Amino acid sequence: MKDLEKKILKHLKERNWDNLRPADMAKSIMIEGAELLENFQWENLSLEEVKKNKAKMGEIEKELADVLICAIQMAVLLKLDVEKIVLRKLKAVALKYPAALMRKRKGEPGTEEVYWKIKKAYRSKS
Ligand SMILES: [Mg+2]
Repeated sequence: MKDLEKKILKHLKERNWDNLRPADMAKSIMIEGAELLENFQWENLSLEEVKKNKAKMGEIEKELADVLICAIQMAVLLKLDVEKIVLRKLKAVALKYPAALMRKRKGEPGTEEVYWKIKKAYRSKS
């Protein structure tokens, strides 16, 4: 188990929070995700605009940490290896969205059609 996962498990055990129900942990991930999303309600700032806004970045940092903690705690309590499951999913996404096709710039002829063709093909498999 990695250092961060060990620290989260220790944190949970110290508080007798190491027997949470999976459904409650999944709900917590979504609730914290909603709190993260609240920082963007009624606006659609670019990455650079958000990075320049120190107050917003502070709030994003807190809520993103909550999401990550909840997600890692669920993995830890279900005895899932965080690195292993993330790398496995990255590999699946890389197959679904080949880098050479996805690197094309928005508006480049054919880009949108290729993207939606890949997406539609993937959805029809699942
Ligand atoms: Mg929160």
